[in-house]
Amino acid sequence: MQIVDIRATTVAVPLQAPLRHSNGAHWGRFIRTIVEVEADNGLIGLGEMGGGGESAEAAIRALLPYLKGHDPVQLETLRFKIANPTASLYNNRTQLLAAVEFACLDLVGQQLGVPVHDLLGGRIRDSVPFASYLFFRYASDGYAEIRTPDQLVEHARELRQAHGFTVHKLKGGVFPPDYELECYRALADAFPGDRLRYDPNAVLSMAEGLRFGKAIEGLNNDYLEDPVFGLEGLRLVREQIGVPIATNTVVVNFEQLASNVMRRSADVILLDTTFWGGIRPCVKAAGVCETFQLGVAVHSSGELGIQLATMLHLGAVLPNLTYAADAHYHQLRDDVIEGGRLPYKDGAIAVPSGPGLGVRLDRDRVAEYAEFYKRVGGYPYDRDPGRPGWYAQVPNERFADPTISVEVAT
Ligand SMILES: [Mg+2]
Repeated sequence: MQIVDIRATTVAVPLQAPLRHSNGAHWGRFIRTIVEVEADNGLIGLGEMGGGGESAEAAIRALLPYLKGHDPVQLETLRFKIANPTASLYNNRTQLLAAVEFACLDLVGQQLGVPVHDLLGGRIRDSVPFASYLFFRYASDGYAEIRTPDQLVEHARELRQAHGFTVHKLKGGVFPPDYELECYRALADAFPGDRLRYDPNAVLSMAEGLRFGKAIEGLNNDYLEDPVFGLEGLRLVREQIGVPIATNTVVVNFEQLASNVMRRSADVILLDTTFWGGIRPCVKAAGVCETFQLGVAVHSSGELGIQLATMLHLGAVLPNLTYAADAHYHQLRDDVIEGGRLPYKDGAIAVPSGPGLGVRLDRDRVAEYAEFYKRVGGYPYDRDPGRPGWYAQVPNERFADPTISVEVAT
């Protein structure tokens, strides 16, 4: 099998409502670049990338000269062809590599008639549990604003009812820490048997991070995720509070993982199939984590069905995945894969069992959302439509005002 072509299509898929986070917002839609790698036998492997609100079409298409004639089975040489560690100092293609790796695994799986998890060692679970992913958000098209503790609890209750979640993740760093602490405690009070995690995307000061961490010590926490920035910051918080520390920001490659093994800063590593350069690097990293008794969870960078499939195949094969995965997926109004959004059952999503990634593109949906992208364009992930002129600093000292209800046009 040889690669003969690479196509990229940018789509904008609507979210229920604009999602607020510590660095800005997802402005009511996800921008994702759908990657199709065509082989000489006519098979098409699927990949996906995105997360920052911009198209990656040009960068993906520019890989064709590197990959024309490449055998998709050759996944190790793929790494060196487009993202060797020293050349990457200039041209960091880790996330592009990930999208191509997904497509190559999809091609190999289709060629052999086996699902991707069988190429990764075989599945040890049939479905992957997920956390509800709770955001403060602006109202949109009948989807209510989420700003107050009551609105947040009501939203979590609806998601719990609809999808069966028993783990809840609050994305914070938007409002002052004391206010978000009140919100977090409201969730703990409302769902006493469920587990919780809080992630302010590293914007708290050391003092606030410590104060928040100490304040939640008695609650049913999975972990406190990136309360402050940096391996050293996390290490100092970790030494002083009784809550496990997780990160998806400062352990995203093997060098950083090695540092964290030698001098522990985080107890739980959130593996992201894009940040790490593919599904296979995540499996390798999970092996290191297993050896050194680090916990493993799955990070979400705002996925449509293709990337979600990579997270499901990853989750299927990790013996040490003892935490529910994260996904923005339930925030979407639709998907670009055949059959629409994959369903949750009892808080979990079934691992696809078809050949390759086990998901295929719905051409009508792709055309519809490619057209929508052309109409609305991308968005600045690091800006907030409700706070013109504001941008995030780390640590943040200019939080949003929780007493103000803002209407935004996106
Ligand atoms: Mg995070």
